[in-house]
Amino acid sequence: MSITSLTAVEIAAKLRSKEVSAVEVTTAFLDRIDSEDAKYGAFLAYDREKAIAEAEAAQGRIDSGDSLPMTGVPVAVKDNISTEGIETTCASKILKGYIPPYDATVVEKLKAQGAIILGKTNLDEFAMGSSTETSAYKLAHNPWDLTRTPGGSSGGSAAAVAADLAPVSLGSDTGGSIRLPASFTGTVGYKPTYGRCSRFGLVAFASSLDQIGPITKTVEDAALLAEATTGHDERDATSNPAPAVSSRELKSGTLKGLKLAFPREMYGEGTDPEVQKAIQASLDALRREGATVDEISIPSIPLGVTTYYIIAPAEASSNLARFDGVRYGPRSQGQGHIDVVAKTRAEGFGHEVKARIMIGTYALSAGYYDAFYLRAQQVRAMMTQQFLDAFKDYDFIVSPTAPVVAFKLGDLSQDPMAMKTLDYCTIPANMGGLPGISIPCGFAHGLPVGLQLMGAPMEDERMLQAAYCAEQLFAVSPKRPNL
Ligand code: GLN
Repeated sequence: MSITSLTAVEIAAKLRSKEVSAVEVTTAFLDRIDSEDAKYGAFLAYDREKAIAEAEAAQGRIDSGDSLPMTGVPVAVKDNISTEGIETTCASKILKGYIPPYDATVVEKLKAQGAIILGKTNLDEFAMGSSTETSAYKLAHNPWDLTRTPGGSSGGSAAAVAADLAPVSLGSDTGGSIRLPASFTGTVGYKPTYGRCSRFGLVAFASSLDQIGPITKTVEDAALLAEATTGHDERDATSNPAPAVSSRELKSGTLKGLKLAFPREMYGEGTDPEVQKAIQASLDALRREGATVDEISIPSIPLGVTTYYIIAPAEASSNLARFDGVRYGPRSQGQGHIDVVAKTRAEGFGHEVKARIMIGTYALSAGYYDAFYLRAQQVRAMMTQQFLDAFKDYDFIVSPTAPVVAFKLGDLSQDPMAMKTLDYCTIPANMGGLPGISIPCGFAHGLPVGLQLMGAPMEDERMLQAAYCAEQLFAVSPKRPNL
């Protein structure tokens, strides 16, 4: 088996036993990116010399016996996460050439572990989208079928892992951007409880919803990467005081006696019957192992998409005000300050981002605030409460991660409404700050289907345990795309 098809846990074991060196591992991935990424469009930037230097340093740590779980393991990082000395563009022209002077907390933590920052992955511009098609630089392709999207917005992070270009990656999830691409590429995508992973250095999209998390081949890798990147950070005012997500008890869970709830509203209008079949089969499998799966009702679920598409653009319109051509990135020519800023933004932002800024500005403006933003916040509070109520009776809520499988590139780009309904099942976890995970559970139309688990806030460890058990049960075959 080649190094590049191994999981992070397997790589770490081989590094510890000195079967391979950290430089060999990193070189194997870099070579594969060099030769194969033209097909996938997963990476926007990578720096071979920097990565090799980090691998040499990691090997030094391994040799001197001071290695940590992630030492020598390469990690691909979504390009909206700041990396000192490596261009960070958010897949936007407005940040072309921007090189952050500091690392995001997650990157700092990875470096402290001796992990290797392999490169920066493709995404929808400023993480706004569900297919990576709004990237200003290039399309990303699904390793299961190159004519299809790997999902978005963390499409590059998901494609990189599914195509063996990186063992693990980090994505960000505001309305499903870790879990949706994981579902489309047959990988595991985990969004921690809001506040467990520092947002310091994550380029803000919608600050009350954004959360960084892992995209991996296995739940065990997701737990490993989460352990290395989460924990309290005083540089993020919304950071939870709890310690990092622990992977210690990952394998000590059981499905027996687990109380699961399936909200019937999770099969929304556009659900593909084949996806529904795969989900039903996986729920039946869980039942056979001794879990109960009750159908329940959470009436606010159908309101999620509309509510999200007011709150997220509102926050984005404020967060993106900083991109004015003065502080970051290229500056357009113009007559005076206002003109320079206007031209820079007109030329630098793509269509989707501009649409969101306008919608968000409108929703926040005097006269409309009460009708839109305030209303949306009320619905958000109601939805959160309905989910918290369900967790009084159930351990976890299960659902499809997405209503459909990966679609053909271009199929939805003229239909912004259809694109947005893809987030139907994932949005509630962001609204309520809940931990959510997508694991591969089967296939529809020959493409991967993801099952989503959601837990009460701070139930990350127990949710990972349940996901680990379910993953062993589903062990879907054929498990890998034909690369
Ligand atoms: N698809 C959603 C959007 O476009 C979610 C994006 C995300 O989670 N970053 O806003």
